[in-house]
Amino acid sequence: MAITPGLTETGFFGSVLSNFDRAARHTKHHPGLLDQVKYCNAVYRMRFPIRMEDGSVEVVEAYRAEHSHHRTPTKGGIRFSEDVTQDDVMALAALMTFKCALVRVPFGGAKGGVCVNPQRCTVEQLERITRRYTAELLKKDFIGPAVDVPAPDYGTGPREMGWIADTYRMMRPHDLDALACVTGKPVEQHGIPGRTEATGRGVCHAIEECVSVPEDVKPLGLKPGLSGVRVVVQGLGNVGYHAAHTLQERGAVIVGVAEREGAILAADGLDVDAVVARRRETGTLLEHPGVKSFERPEACFGFDCDVLIPAALEGVIHEGNAGQIRARIIAEGANGPVTPEAEQVLLDKGALIIPDIYCNAGGVTVSYFEWLKNLNHVSFGRIGSAAQHGSATAHLSPSSEEHEHVRRALADTMAFAHREVREVWRSRGLPDLRTAAFVQAIDKIAVAYESVGIFP
Ligand code: NAD
Repeated sequence: MAITPGLTETGFFGSVLSNFDRAARHTKHHPGLLDQVKYCNAVYRMRFPIRMEDGSVEVVEAYRAEHSHHRTPTKGGIRFSEDVTQDDVMALAALMTFKCALVRVPFGGAKGGVCVNPQRCTVEQLERITRRYTAELLKKDFIGPAVDVPAPDYGTGPREMGWIADTYRMMRPHDLDALACVTGKPVEQHGIPGRTEATGRGVCHAIEECVSVPEDVKPLGLKPGLSGVRVVVQGLGNVGYHAAHTLQERGAVIVGVAEREGAILAADGLDVDAVVARRRETGTLLEHPGVKSFERPEACFGFDCDVLIPAALEGVIHEGNAGQIRARIIAEGANGPVTPEAEQVLLDKGALIIPDIYCNAGGVTVSYFEWLKNLNHVSFGRIGSAAQHGSATAHLSPSSEEHEHVRRALADTMAFAHREVREVWRSRGLPDLRTAAFVQAIDKIAVAYESVGIFP
């Protein structure tokens, strides 16, 4: 059957499709089923007005894409960026489907995008935009604990997720599970401890798993383990900062970081928290003492290091700069940071790419825990602990015990997924880790479709 007209085959979504196709060749599923697994099921494009402080009106364009309903609800972050396009959210929604399948999170993939630059909006404007976007999603049944559950992405965080939960609750006051309509909420608003750091922490676990296998690191010229591994991070936002912080805690050395204003290099290592604190104070990375500064953020790609973590946006490593990269391992903290053309250059140089659908899956893993907690209406560990200690009140607030549960479950999930993907990679003689991760995800989704049958 012909593919629905209007689907883009270029750009970011085109890159995801090309990775899908490369992997699908190594599976035996029927082409019709592969088409169903590959493309986006539903895309809602909306425009809505926002009143500005001076009384004027501005129109905001926004999207929500639901890629796959083989499991429900669908799940995926919301991006606030003036550059976000429908193609981007379709690509990001597709990646969510494959990511969830890899880490055994029983959701389909989705993603949202709102065309705004949060840095140029007041907090009040952002709140009005977020609440109106939520209302638009609700109107078309694109949000709900059983339907589609957003989370943070580039440009959004716990604050926006709190506004979404509150708006949904106001509009669905009789829905007892309303708080499970979104994850990544502030802990005080029924979020879960450990969600904010989860994606970055998961990136650290993914790297740790990959460098722990002697026969995988030997060809890269590295020794097993994180100790002394030299790391460069592009983007010190939610994912990049927490990845750098956790890696540093575990013995890696952060030798370079990049933000919008430029990049800094310190061969002996940086203290990431000090860098972030000073940047907050001065507004720039570049004045950090004792470092070499570069005005182009992309300079970080040429830094001498063992592991490079692109943790800003898609498509940043392309044919034009892949040749400069000296890292032996590229760990995709961001979604889609390496284009297919750049990937070939890097693989030809013998680098290991830890693909986004595994590397940054820690966020959705802990989002799943938060959703479960909201549906259970109780914190993890509270009932067991109360029975153990004879006190039902000792764990009323989100406890450090719950945080520990979350951290352990996240580490186990990343370790298990690595073992599964590596097994597929090696036992089926696949060319690289991304192909293996896609093959593994496609197999799982195809089996889910086949076992449930087709309605009607
Ligand atoms: P964020 O907004 O918290 O941080 C992104 C950071 O990148 C910002 O500090 C920004 O200033 C910086 N940046 C932008 N352009 C840059 C450039 N050219 N050079 C250097 N730095 C630059 O966003 P985030 O949530 O950390 O998301 C980053 C990436 O990770 C995105 O691709 C996102 O889809 C992906 N991701 C996020 C999550 C999550 O839980 N937040 C989960 C999975 C994947």
